[in-house]
This record gives sequence, structure tokens and C-alpha cells, in this order.
Amino acid sequence: MTREELKAAVWEAIDGRADDVIRIGDTIWKHPELGFKETRTAALVERTLSELGLSPQTGLAMTGVKAVAAGAKGAGPTFALIGELDALGVSGHPDADPHTGAAHACGHNAQVAGMLGAAIGLHAVKALAHLSGRVAFFAVPAEEGGDLEWRTQQVRAGTLELLGGKCELIRLGHFDDIDMAMMIHTTSRPEDGPAALPVSNNGRLGKTARYTGRAAHAGSAPHRGVNALYAAQIGLMGINAIRETFRDEDAIRVHPILTHGGSQVNVIPGEARIETYVRGRTLEGIRDANARVDRALKAGALALGATVDIETWPGYLPLSPDATMAAFFTDTARTLFGECRNAGHRAACTDMGDVSQIMPVLHPYMGGASGTGHAADYAIADPMLAYVAPAKALAAMVIDLLFDDASGAREVLARARPRMTRESYLAFQRGIGKREVFDGAK
Ligand SMILES: [Zn+2]
Ligand SMILES: [Zn+2]
Repeated sequence: MTREELKAAVWEAIDGRADDVIRIGDTIWKHPELGFKETRTAALVERTLSELGLSPQTGLAMTGVKAVAAGAKGAGPTFALIGELDALGVSGHPDADPHTGAAHACGHNAQVAGMLGAAIGLHAVKALAHLSGRVAFFAVPAEEGGDLEWRTQQVRAGTLELLGGKCELIRLGHFDDIDMAMMIHTTSRPEDGPAALPVSNNGRLGKTARYTGRAAHAGSAPHRGVNALYAAQIGLMGINAIRETFRDEDAIRVHPILTHGGSQVNVIPGEARIETYVRGRTLEGIRDANARVDRALKAGALALGATVDIETWPGYLPLSPDATMAAFFTDTARTLFGECRNAGHRAACTDMGDVSQIMPVLHPYMGGASGTGHAADYAIADPMLAYVAPAKALAAMVIDLLFDDASGAREVLARARPRMTRESYLAFQRGIGKREVFDGAK
């Protein structure tokens, strides 16, 4: 069997099981779960991979699931197909979980459907009999950030160290047996077309700022209080004022939210809390913007005579996709759709960026969603494009990389120059964390 005959057989098998793949995507859509809490989705992945005769490992970085299948043609590199398990909290989304507010407004349900669809198709035609090396089917937790207060509590309790799913998987060694990885992210942007490759993605830091003032009777003795809410508001205004100093080429995004603004209305707020990200295209740009944000946050404490406790948390590193893998994907996208567009630089961040620092990765976008990402109108509009086409593209990548003594994967490894090792990555992330307490009354 030739490479192209094997691909055609797998694609036919995936088309034959399209209803099952769509059912997986729809089931996950209906049961959205927040990062590190995706137990039901993880169980679905485990069950599906087990039904294919694989032996998945579970509970990786809390909820991750990984199953490895070896090619029968001999040893070679290990290629991971990744699907992200998590949803995110979006107010007003019609399909949000009524208790947690979680909704699949980033389309990660489609990633898992595509990853499992590829596994189903490869299994159906016994494709591994024709391949070398290994393929890992890897469902990963917590790509979406946020939920910072809960996650930082986990850090203090010792159950997490880094705040993202892939970061934790790297730390715990679950990428140690993988040589290269890819995932396909759903897109709702018409300009991305059916398939697009980004040039790069932003990285980011996380920050929490806790203002402490002094509670007092809001009616009879406000002069004896120190209003932490107003201090936080001035901090937010300071951040908004420095936006004009951000350089376009750094693609900085700072978007704070107020997570606590007082205990009750007749008490001058003694505490207020802010969470924010500082995103940018380069580490230098992020560091520069981060120092300005710290200064703005302190200005609020200074104005009111409050104290601000600023904590900076490791986030995600910028993503740089592998050029050799991109060339293989471009061919597949052209076969499927007649085109593969250039998605340019994306100001969104992903912990696939962290993986891209230590091994070759690819993070293309494929269509099938409508509305706006992370918004209440986000929906899966075309299940064949969102769920089934990614399954075909991922399966084709497995064959392109692992056919013919895994010559494609060996070519990727020969050309790739990862910037970091797992150890230097962890040292970098551990160097980010910083805590500074600024007393504005002094
Ligand atoms: Zn997202
Ligand atoms: Zn996403």
C-alpha cells in the first residue's frame, strides 16, 4: 500500500464513522467543564480510546488522558495528536452549564472530536501496521486561563505549580516520550477560511493585585476608612492611560477584571481584587508592559493610602510553529479544501506555545464555528468541517510523518531547533513568579 492509498483508506473510514465523530463533538459541547475539572470529558476520551484497544493513562496533570500506539514497521519518533478538554466561563452563553457558567465558546469540544476521530479512522484500517514510530492520542486539560483565584489556591496547596494544562504536563514529564505534537484549533473567523496556519501567537503573564484599605461605616465614618475599591479603580485607570505607550509591533493586550470590590454597601471596601493578563508577541515586549502595569497598580495604592499586593504568575510562552510540519499540513489542507490561508500573528495565547519552545509543534486553525470566540454567540455551525475534517487532517499528518520508516518525522526532527529543554523551560517559568507588596501610606 502506498502512502496515498493508506490516506485514502483512512479518510474513507472517517467518513464512514462521521456520525460517531459528530456525536462525540456534540456530547462534549453539551457538557462543558472548566480547566483541570474536565472529569466527564476525560472519561469520554478514556472510554473511546479503550474501545479502540488502547490502554490510556489517566489523571495526567489532574485530568489529562494519553494513549500511545506503536507502528508495526519499527522504531521511530513519537508524534502526539492533541485535543484540549476544557471550556471557559462566558456570561450569557445559551449552552453554558447552569452551575459553573462554563461553555465551549472556544470550540475545544471539536478538538477532542477531531483527535478521537483520527484515532477511530487509523484504527479502522489498521494503519499502524504500515507505520513506524509511535502516535500518542493526548487529551490535555486547562488551556484556557482564568479561574486564577482557584488555580493560585491549588498552587499554595501544592496540587498545581504552573497554571496551564500543557505547562503542568511538561513539568510532570508527560511530554518526555513525545518528539513532536500538533492540534487543530477551531476558528469562527471568516478570513481564516476552511484552514489557516498562524505565523505566531502571543505569550502572556498572569497577575493578581489585592488592594487592602480599611473598612469603616460608609454613612457615619467614611473618613476613618481607606477605600480599597477606589484604589483599585485608580489602578485600572492607570493601566488604561499607559495603553498609548504600547508599541504596535509588540501586540500587547492588557485586560484586567475586578474580581472583588467590597463586602457590602454600607461598609467602605476594605479589600478589592484585580486579575489581569499581560500578553505580547515577544518576551521582551511582555516584560516591558508588565513593569508599566505594576507602576499603574501601585499608583492606586499611593492615591488612597492603601496597600497593594501584586503577584506575577508564569503564563504561556509565544508560539512558533514548525515549518516542516506546516508544509505537510499545507499539502493536506489543499487536498481537502483547495487552499490553506495565512492567519498571520494571533494576539491570543496558548500553552501550545510552551510546547513549541521544547519540540516542533503545529497549531493550525480550521473552520466550522460561527460567532465570536469566547463570546455568547459562539456555536458550531458546520459539524463536518469542525469535527470530521480535522480528524482527516490529523490522520493524514500521522501518515505523512510516520510512513516510509517515519521519514517525514525524521525530517522534522533534523530541521527543528527547539529553543529550550524541559529543564530550561521549567527554570524560565520558575523565574517569572514574583510578589511585591507596596504600601501607599508610607
Ligand atoms: Zn480560548
Ligand atoms: Zn481555544
